[in-house]
Amino acid sequence: MNALSIMHITPAVPNRLPVAAAAVFLILILSGCTGGAGVPKFDGNNAYALLKRQCDFGPRPLGTPAHEKTADFLAAELKKYADRQFEQSFTYQSPSRKRAYTGRNIFGVFGKDRKRWVLLLAHYDTRPTADEEVDHAKARQPILGANDGASGCAVLLELAKMLHKKLADTGVVIAFIDGEDFGPGVDEMFIGSKAFAEKWREVMKPVRGFDKFEYGVLLDMVGDKDLEIRKESYSTQRAPDIVAKIWNAAAELEYDKYFNSAKPGLGQMIQDDHLPLLAGGIKCVDVIDFDYPYWHTLEDTPDKCGAASLQIVGDVVTRVVYSEPAGE
Ligand SMILES: [Zn+2]
Repeated sequence: MNALSIMHITPAVPNRLPVAAAAVFLILILSGCTGGAGVPKFDGNNAYALLKRQCDFGPRPLGTPAHEKTADFLAAELKKYADRQFEQSFTYQSPSRKRAYTGRNIFGVFGKDRKRWVLLLAHYDTRPTADEEVDHAKARQPILGANDGASGCAVLLELAKMLHKKLADTGVVIAFIDGEDFGPGVDEMFIGSKAFAEKWREVMKPVRGFDKFEYGVLLDMVGDKDLEIRKESYSTQRAPDIVAKIWNAAAELEYDKYFNSAKPGLGQMIQDDHLPLLAGGIKCVDVIDFDYPYWHTLEDTPDKCGAASLQIVGDVVTRVVYSEPAGE
């Protein structure tokens, strides 16, 4: 993703999360609050293992063998858990590289003949260059993308396992989106979400009972050990009710500290995969912690991310999804 303008960024406070997260977990254990009867429990350690699993492929930019292996892995995992799994393949002609690329958006469908459908998405490709590195030699290298790429997919893949155990009342489509971080400029970013936004009705044709998405939730950079997610400005402008739904779920779980309402993130307008979807008629919000010192550097590695953060985001998304009504 790319930030148009960032304001009100506070310095990271090391070691704040583990202590606070431990306290939150203790409260949750004591209250037995997991978001409803029979709802499987999100496992942050499993999600963290899935984050590392993706990073084991190495940097995963569009057009590389590691990218293909990652796409194959994600598709195979979804095939195990989803009621239906399919892909949208698309061709992208890059003006800067003067060659064509084949991209893959990967979908898993959870539920049949549902009245309502919710879209959950994350990008799985990683930035081909470490643009934020000061050293020019380093800046030309591809990033590992533990947080920027793998974290959102890790949460959604863990959720896919849970939906396999117990479907939600609402239909759920999980989408692993390609080409978000291709670049170098924003004109060559969000390639997969643009391809999907153009043809989403056609792409979703195999889904029985599908009419439209009630809304979409994009997860991006949700693994930072020092987790603090602010309300992203396009999301609050275009889908305030969905933002409220997510932040309310976080508050109910006593995660206010991590889903921070006190700092509204005014001016934090993030260009990300939610924008093409909004333009294409899907109400979509971006859940993102953009205050990450390793963004687009070679230091975006699994040790900067934590199971506790994935747990928090996973718990919130679980609560939102399993609270959705079946509809009439
Ligand atoms: Zn990025």
